[in-house]
Amino acid sequence: MKLFSDYHTHPQGHRVQRYSQKLLQPWIDQARKIGLRDIAFTDHDRYHSGVDFSEIDRLREKNPDVKVRAGIELDNDPKSSAAGRKWVEQHWDKLDFVLGSVHFLERDDQMFDTVPAGAAQFEGRNIDQVYEDYFRRVREIAATGLIDCLAHLDLVKIHGHRPAAGIDSITAETLEFVSSRALAIELSTAGWRKPVNELYPSDRLIELAMAKGIPFTIASDAHSHVQLGENFDRLAQKMGSLGIREVCIYERHKRQVIMNNE
Ligand SMILES: [Zn+2]
Ligand SMILES: [Zn+2]
Repeated sequence: MKLFSDYHTHPQGHRVQRYSQKLLQPWIDQARKIGLRDIAFTDHDRYHSGVDFSEIDRLREKNPDVKVRAGIELDNDPKSSAAGRKWVEQHWDKLDFVLGSVHFLERDDQMFDTVPAGAAQFEGRNIDQVYEDYFRRVREIAATGLIDCLAHLDLVKIHGHRPAAGIDSITAETLEFVSSRALAIELSTAGWRKPVNELYPSDRLIELAMAKGIPFTIASDAHSHVQLGENFDRLAQKMGSLGIREVCIYERHKRQVIMNNE
């Protein structure tokens, strides 16, 4: 199986960098080099001021062989997400794809997935309660109605903490909600470069999602163009062993399911 898409990328990295051909073209060059033909730019919503749809249009004109989707990763940042949601609403028709994610738990000044500092947020805590709280926030972002797909669904495991209660019971309500809203979830190789060293989401969560007919996008969460499609050979193997043969893509929020049977 050869994977052809990457639906989680950050051309701006971790700061506002206005979209330009100079910033974006290397992503297309890299996509072409590694055999991807459909990619989505999904910068963090706190950097929405850098997104320029006319630059994306110019990029599309210059590179007709690679589909470029305009997207954003909308999260639950207590400071910026209200403005982010408003921006998504205002630009909904120009966006192809919106990822929803949870980066904040009780502390509103530090993402819990900061490595290694964010691990301190788990110290002395009841891990089952942290998981419950995390997945409640996932349902909240899913309920905004502004999301096509949930990013790194079990990011809460990033530092290696595991709930005593099984993951089945802790995630049942969330998967039911995702299914009822007809949302997708992503298979993200980013987990393999984090302390947990495991795909997002876990094999068990993927099985539970498959049983509910939830579709998948595939993603690297690249913060540099050299990370695009990272570990996709390994991901293709994993998908083969789990029996996933379909990948979904988006155009103006409309989902298309593609058989991945090359
Ligand atoms: Zn994220
Ligand atoms: Zn991301």
